[in-house]
Amino acid sequence: MVRISIPNLPIRPAGPPNALTRLPLADQAKHLGEFLADGRGQTLVITGAGVSVDSGIRAYRGKEGSYSNPNYQPIFFGQLVEDAPRGQMFRRRYWARSFLGYPPVRDAQPNPNHIYLASLQALGLAPHLITQNVDNLHRKALARVQAAVARNSPSGSSSPTSPSPFPSSSGSGPTGSPSSSTSATHIGPHLDPSDPVLELHGTLARVHCMAHYHEQTRDAWQMQLAEENPVWDETAKMMEETGQKPRTNPDGDVELPGADYTHFTVPTCAECTALGEDHSVVKPNVIFFGETLPVAVKDQSFNLVHNASRLLVLGTSLATYSAFRLIKAAREAGKPVLMISQGPSRADDTEGVDKMDTRAGPVLRAFLDQYLESHSGPQVQGVLSVLDSGIVKSLPADDPRAVSPSS
Ligand SMILES: [Zn+2]
Repeated sequence: MVRISIPNLPIRPAGPPNALTRLPLADQAKHLGEFLADGRGQTLVITGAGVSVDSGIRAYRGKEGSYSNPNYQPIFFGQLVEDAPRGQMFRRRYWARSFLGYPPVRDAQPNPNHIYLASLQALGLAPHLITQNVDNLHRKALARVQAAVARNSPSGSSSPTSPSPFPSSSGSGPTGSPSSSTSATHIGPHLDPSDPVLELHGTLARVHCMAHYHEQTRDAWQMQLAEENPVWDETAKMMEETGQKPRTNPDGDVELPGADYTHFTVPTCAECTALGEDHSVVKPNVIFFGETLPVAVKDQSFNLVHNASRLLVLGTSLATYSAFRLIKAAREAGKPVLMISQGPSRADDTEGVDKMDTRAGPVLRAFLDQYLESHSGPQVQGVLSVLDSGIVKSLPADDPRAVSPSS
């Protein structure tokens, strides 16, 4: 059983750049084009924090493999779900901080990387994507590109190959038995195998209860938190109005030095309360440090690798084992792996992993420019109409990477 632990990479001096890294950009793009062409529409993309940095979302670690935020102390899964007064305190702290930290996460916009990858999906070059990110930006980008493709398609012809990028809003996953003896290990997210995006470590866009995995959107939960905590709600509105943003970590946790969480009210699951159970803990659909990946997510991730012809890995150090083992599985099955990512990674010594040690965005863009020029059709027209719509947002000023981006 694999639990998510705090990633820790050995730091070693970088060797000389390899041949792929030394190629001029146009040749790197050509190499990527050949890789995707050989993948015959079955290339699986795996992404990590590196693709979201341009959306102002900080990575756990920087270019040199060190923590971007050395003072960050994440909440562990065991603390969050502990059924004791101490667990209550952790939940108050988590949800109070997360309540203030959520609006910027909710409003975050896809950057060029997300648009380019959604374009690969819409063009049928790499229809499926696994991300380690919890920021929902791949789905937002895919929705935008799919809408653009639909606008450019002859009226009446809906695209059967484009499943919705968002999970159905019907809400609940499997509800299981209402009996209180239901074990939490037998319930989990209800996944659709045709879903174009799999969030390996969950998503901040939804929450669920521990007892029965009753799901709801984070927006609905945020409204409930606001109603229960009017004073915090005023603070949140004031922060939004003044543009004041607390330091937000990648899991949506926020740093509020000196804040008193004692009086923050954390509601229990409304559906469980209706069943007569009033101790059901609600947590975000995010895998915490110390938590095990849901079996359904793990199975779907391996199925996607099994069904893929090859892997394109972008913007990740693969420090978490849940992602690294997918690369291992692909290599054991003899599938090619191309990695475009800046900085050291756990797969650097893995046999058969080709790596461009560089930022993925410019290579993706150069490839798409070549591809779109030599192809036509509604997909191409749709992609062209939104290709420049990604928004680059710098990191908050307190981030060391924002002060010296070249470091
Ligand atoms: Zn519930």
